[in-house]
Amino acid sequence: MMSPSLLPLVTPSPAHICPFDQACSYLEEAAKELQLDSGLLAILSSPRKVVTVSVPVKLDSGEVRVLVGHRVQHCNILGPYKGGTRYHPAVTLQEVSALAMLMTWKCALLGIPYGGAKGGIALDPNQYSVGELERVTRRYTSELINDIGPAVDIPAPDMGTSSREMAWMMDTYSMNVGHAVPGVVTGKPLSIGGSRGRDLATGRGVMIVVREALAERGLSLAGVRVVIQGFGNVGGAAAQLLHDAGAKVLAVSNGRGGIFCETGLDIPALNVYVAQNRQVLAGFPGSIAISNAELLTLPCDVLIPAALENQITEENVARVQATIVAEAANGPVTLAADRALEARGVTVLPDILANAGGVVVSYLEWVQGLSYVFWDEERVNQEMEGLMVQAYRQVTHQAKLRQVPLRLAAYTLGVGRVAQALADRGLYP
Ligand code: GLU
Repeated sequence: MMSPSLLPLVTPSPAHICPFDQACSYLEEAAKELQLDSGLLAILSSPRKVVTVSVPVKLDSGEVRVLVGHRVQHCNILGPYKGGTRYHPAVTLQEVSALAMLMTWKCALLGIPYGGAKGGIALDPNQYSVGELERVTRRYTSELINDIGPAVDIPAPDMGTSSREMAWMMDTYSMNVGHAVPGVVTGKPLSIGGSRGRDLATGRGVMIVVREALAERGLSLAGVRVVIQGFGNVGGAAAQLLHDAGAKVLAVSNGRGGIFCETGLDIPALNVYVAQNRQVLAGFPGSIAISNAELLTLPCDVLIPAALENQITEENVARVQATIVAEAANGPVTLAADRALEARGVTVLPDILANAGGVVVSYLEWVQGLSYVFWDEERVNQEMEGLMVQAYRQVTHQAKLRQVPLRLAAYTLGVGRVAQALADRGLYP
């Protein structure tokens, strides 16, 4: 096994910050707080398995292009590896390795019996036709055929992928083994064993933790000013649910820029507008166009970075005006910016808690599949709500007990549970 930090960087991380080193820093901090032994820390610092594959694809033009795909399996002490598959041009092995490690702590924190993994292909899905994306997905799945499976490693959607890619992955795997295997992925369409509520799950989880954080301060979502970076699977769902709960969503953005409206955007009308306007937000009636950078520093109560990592950095953190930052993306706040927010008393709801709603409903999808009993959306949302609120309370309790910020509290719980399981199982052989 080779540490990913020794492997070549395929594409530099946007802010030239190594995401894997950053993830290890948080792990080391938690290990220190937990007084973990150095051998345990060494095991938890390295992914168990790193797979990099070539993904050759014939484009519609007849040209053959070779893409690079990864799947990093960080830890399977508590159960099968679990984590999304990302399609984005900035995907690197370091990024996927960091995200795989976050999945391990996230699952342990939420008390769901999985380990952490993540996959990704460096490509911009907007530059490929549906047919090309299908061929890419099927070839990538087939390259990983011996590394995934319902008891081994269960991919799910992530940035740039959705239920459509999960259906292709499920079909490719199933055709190879000769029978339908719905449990090989989660986030599938309902027609092949997906769960109701999975599409909005990550956004719903974000809404729940923001609601809980406000409730602790004697506030409700009604009238609260929210700014969201991102308007995709996660940001779009969070915007909708927060709007439904009475919050004022002042600004949202996507890769093409953002929009702002001081009195709050009409999110249902905006959903119709972007669908008709090829995902361009600019020009939405009553709004003004802003850049992604401007959006992060708008006056608001709650800032929700729901796009890429390393968005709130040393460079812009002093201009962030929110009192609560909810990390709907994975790793959107750099280590240095996290320290600066902490020093200013800004509450950061950490990614492994704030965006866990997706993997929680993935787990509920897997449970429904294993039991061959499918629930209505109300039951799914209720079960998810229970797990999210329980984790939120455990994290805030831990933060008070240890006198540490919420991120370190969440890490001590997640890392501590995995370390305990590792100590109980013992080191093989
Ligand atoms: N990609 C999502 C995450 O980062 C969901 C993973 C899953 O459902 O397995 O949490």
